[in-house]
Amino acid sequence: MFQFMQPDRVSDLHFKYDPVSGLRAIIAIHNTRFGPALGGCRFIHYASTEQAVTDAIRLAKGMSYKAVMAGIEQGGGKSVIIKPDTQFDPEALFSAFGHFVNELNGRYITAIDAGTTAHEMDIIRRHTAHVTSTTQEGNPSGYTAQGVLAGIQSAVKHRLGRLSLEGVSVALQGLGNVGFLLAEMLHEAGARLTVSDLDQSKVKAAMERFGATASDPDTIYQTPCDVFSPCGLGGVINQTTTQQLRCSVVAGSANNQLARPEDGNTLFERHILYAPDYVINAGGLIYASLHHRHAKNSLINSKINHIAHTLEQIFDDASSEHCPTSQVADRMAESRLYGY
Ligand code: NAD
Repeated sequence: MFQFMQPDRVSDLHFKYDPVSGLRAIIAIHNTRFGPALGGCRFIHYASTEQAVTDAIRLAKGMSYKAVMAGIEQGGGKSVIIKPDTQFDPEALFSAFGHFVNELNGRYITAIDAGTTAHEMDIIRRHTAHVTSTTQEGNPSGYTAQGVLAGIQSAVKHRLGRLSLEGVSVALQGLGNVGFLLAEMLHEAGARLTVSDLDQSKVKAAMERFGATASDPDTIYQTPCDVFSPCGLGGVINQTTTQQLRCSVVAGSANNQLARPEDGNTLFERHILYAPDYVINAGGLIYASLHHRHAKNSLINSKINHIAHTLEQIFDDASSEHCPTSQVADRMAESRLYGY
């Protein structure tokens, strides 16, 4: 296992198998220099345990970078529950997971992620206090969308010199919790939308409500537009899609958008401005962390508004150094995290 941990400097990996509920879960804690690790619980199918471990590590690292760039006193962690292929009892499974989180005594705080909702967080809450985004605490997705909107405005201003989103064309991939709210905000700001989702009912709803144009999920990358906004799953900016994109800006909510670091370099070479994912999508973490600590709404909003300012700094540094924004953001995050 250490060969998985060393390259990404992840500090702990915790495994739990519960024979009664069938729970197979992994908690990855990347770094706790600035506080306990906070990050969502992903509940999806994995082809292998190795794939689940790799996902947990990559996501945990992203959370450390996200927290440090957002100025949140939280470390980075993430958990994955391998979704069973056979029938299971969700109550028993998430209860067992709640006990697992509790055993770490607050070193890791869980939250929602792909495949989990406030309902599962409520089950977990019965067994541990170290959980956010329960029904009582609220869904962080609106805060994530708010930060992404501010980030898109900042990227459009930097690359296209436009101060408003009126008439700006956006190809939006993924109309889930964040994507649908973002589509609504973009529509209200006057943007023209092309959308895709694997679920056609969501596409239909966006067409009806926001006058969006539908795109096939496989061809959305080729849509001529000002902004491509990935709000589905990660790894969508890769060797193939970087050549297909016909946009000026990539800015969306998905975690781990770049399949490999080199893909950030290709975007730069193609003169596409990339808003680093862990900077632009920090709104949900800001909300979850500060709300959990009973902070005032004004502080939450000011931290979310600061996302645009951090991006401006990254864009300016990358322009003056003539290098990819992904490299500038990594360097800033690592210097804050490791003190060099
Ligand atoms: P979600 O599961 O509610 O929505 C994802 C949507 O994307 C679904 O509707 C799904 O059908 C669609 N999708 C998946 N793959 C697709 C593809 N190839 N083409 C088109 N559509 C596709 O998830 P969410 O909570 O909206 O989060 C979206 C992304 O943002 C995820 O990567 C998540 O990790 C990240 N993120 C979310 C939050 C948050 O507050 N929810 C915070 C930070 C980052």
